Amino acid sequence: MKVEKVKGNILIVEDNPKTRKMIQRHLLREGYEITEAENGKTAIELIEHNQYDVILLDIMMPEMSGLDVCQILRSNPRNASLYIIMITAVKGGEEKVRGLDSGADDYLEKPFDVNEMLARIRVGLRTVKAKRDAIIDKLTQLYNRHFFDACIIQEMNRTLRYNRHLSILIIDLDLFKRVNDTYGHDVGDSVLSEAASIINKMCRQSDYPVRWGGEEFVVLLPETNKEGAFRLAEKLRVEFEKHVFDIAGKVTASIGVASMANEYVDLIKVADNALYHAKSEGRNRVVVF
Ligand code: GH3
Ligand code: MG
Ligand code: MG
Ligand code: MG
Repeated sequence: MKVEKVKGNILIVEDNPKTRKMIQRHLLREGYEITEAENGKTAIELIEHNQYDVILLDIMMPEMSGLDVCQILRSNPRNASLYIIMITAVKGGEEKVRGLDSGADDYLEKPFDVNEMLARIRVGLRTVKAKRDAIIDKLTQLYNRHFFDACIIQEMNRTLRYNRHLSILIIDLDLFKRVNDTYGHDVGDSVLSEAASIINKMCRQSDYPVRWGGEEFVVLLPETNKEGAFRLAEKLRVEFEKHVFDIAGKVTASIGVASMANEYVDLIKVADNALYHAKSEGRNRVVVF
């Protein structure tokens, strides 16, 4: 049976340049996009700013071991769909167990068979697709509510433990039913997808833009206080006001904002309440509670 080649974005984290080049050579031949990192710190920085599908991660590296890198990556829910293959040099089970327990998905033992490495990468790419489908909303390509539920718990715990700030925006498109009624459901769908890219474009890398449901979106803003959240909300509101949607034309948004710092706040409930006020005060506005 012919094995179908799947294109993928692969990061090789390996301190030994010879091994790194060898892996790279084989992967390039398969048509994958390859990025190299010679240590854990560089790898973490790269992953923060780029999207990779599979990482080949050497365990034995000076300064930061592959196990540490793995733990750091997994502590961020954003990396949940990343497929991590550890490269172990030590024979025997203990290191593999530690690797898998640190959050790795699979491992390769040095010296490894190239065909086995390629097959394991293909498994990784199939798995990544399934993992992404589980957390991304199909129409808007934003995170879905299921993923949001996991993130908010983690971000709230971090906020309370380290005395940080956390904010949330709930964005609801104004009189959206009219868009559907006037132009049909398909045009409604394309407005939702355009609205999502406006929201996504204005967010920082560390924010979580989510399709909350229907014509409602949530943005979770770690390390952001009430003033910062209001500024972003107002910028977004203006962006919606200025934007001309394909076919549907003008669609505005109302936004509710909520924040917390050193004590627990039911952010969704509070922001939803603020949104309710934004609607009843005439729509196309931001209300902070
Ligand atoms: P308001 O300003 O008070 O928010 O008015 P609204 O019309 O936006 O609010 P309402 O809750 O009455 O209507 C929301 C509409 O969003 C109704 C529903 O058909 C539409 N909608 C929800 N999900 C989707 C979707 O996935 N695609 C499309 N096209 N429409 C959707
Ligand atoms: Mg090494
Ligand atoms: Mg609504
Ligand atoms: Mg609405």
